[in-house]
Amino acid sequence: MATRLLRGSLRLWGARAAQRPLLATRCSHSGGEERLETPSAKRLTDIGIRRIFSSEHDIFRESVRKFFQEEVIPHHAEWEKAGEVSRELWEKAGKQGLLGVNIAEEHGGIGGDLFSTAVVWEEQAYSNCTGPGFSLHSDIVMPYIANYGSEEQIKRFIPQMTAGKCIGAIAMTEPGAGSDLQGVRTNAKKDGSDWILNGSKVFITNGWLSDVVIVVAVTSREARSPAHGISLFLVENGMKGFIKGRKLHKMGLKAQDTAELFFEDVRLPASALLGEENKGFYYLMQELPQERLLIAELAISACEFMFEETRNYVKQRKAFGKTVAHIQKVPKTAPNCSCAERFHFVV
Ligand SMILES: Cc1cc2nc3c(=O)[nH]c(=O)nc-3n(C[C@H](O)[C@H](O)[C@H](O)COP(=O)(O)OP(=O)(O)OC[C@H]3O[C@@H](n4cnc5c(N)ncnc54)[C@H](O)[C@@H]3O)c2cc1C
Repeated sequence: MATRLLRGSLRLWGARAAQRPLLATRCSHSGGEERLETPSAKRLTDIGIRRIFSSEHDIFRESVRKFFQEEVIPHHAEWEKAGEVSRELWEKAGKQGLLGVNIAEEHGGIGGDLFSTAVVWEEQAYSNCTGPGFSLHSDIVMPYIANYGSEEQIKRFIPQMTAGKCIGAIAMTEPGAGSDLQGVRTNAKKDGSDWILNGSKVFITNGWLSDVVIVVAVTSREARSPAHGISLFLVENGMKGFIKGRKLHKMGLKAQDTAELFFEDVRLPASALLGEENKGFYYLMQELPQERLLIAELAISACEFMFEETRNYVKQRKAFGKTVAHIQKVPKTAPNCSCAERFHFVV
């Protein structure tokens, strides 16, 4: 794994880094290394800090940071206008080894640990570019396929998703089913060995660009509770009756292609069922904690970025004949902001 993870890093890093020996061990906790925690670091976004990371993670982080600086930041304003990022970006990220980082190598992923994939989440937040839906693709959608997919499904989707050639989405939410997932109305009925899927979904991240969507659907209305009658299906772009609606205009996350999806008598082969019939809700309960962790981590990293931006600003901005940083109120506010940051220390 480390070799593959680092291969991507080194490609960007160039000759200087290439002279360093590749480490054969997995990226893991840093053991005996001396590392500062964020509250003591010069900048909260510094590379080489926090005990949960190792020097291998730092090498990877350096390459991920460079990727966001060179391949994402310069194009983001244009993507915000378009309401989507380019497909080319996905393939570049795949080549760089930034997708499927925490998916096992034998399944076609990169085989890195959770900390390595968290490096990608954090670096995206530090770039202040919300467009690329990499984390949803790699750390929400891919784990369902890797954990519950058949061998055939894993072989078909995971390597392509790691390469950025197949973009993943997950469609749970409906106009009448958000927090309360048991309110799902999209349904799939058996027709011989096939399934016929009908319904609609809303707020689907990567929905517009998606090549494969995990769709949450009711498969048994007779189940003793809705949770016992829900299944997951892999629906592919281009299937007859699978219609992508509009990209939604949002207050923020403007380059993210959040979309509505419609399913009108979509005929799905038996092989489109992900895992076991009527076990979908159990799979969701199993996987949603990682989604929550990811969202919390993105939020904290975004706070770190904002803290550093503010710190730079108050050091440069002059008012009343001195920098804003020297006005009495400001230094008092800054420690309050970094309290949120201390949470990162705990996480
Ligand atoms: C940018 C964006 C991207 C998204 N991407 C996806 C995606 O890729 N796939 C997908 O399936 N969905 C996606 N969603 C949908 C998201 O998961 C839902 O918005 C979320 O589940 C909440 O559902 P809701 O909007 O219907 O709010 P509701 O469920 O109607 O909730 C409204 C408010 O009531 C509160 N509330 C609800 N129930 C309770 C309760 N029991 N106790 C106390 N408070 C409660 C909620 O916290 C919320 O503040 C996305 C949403 C956004 C905004």
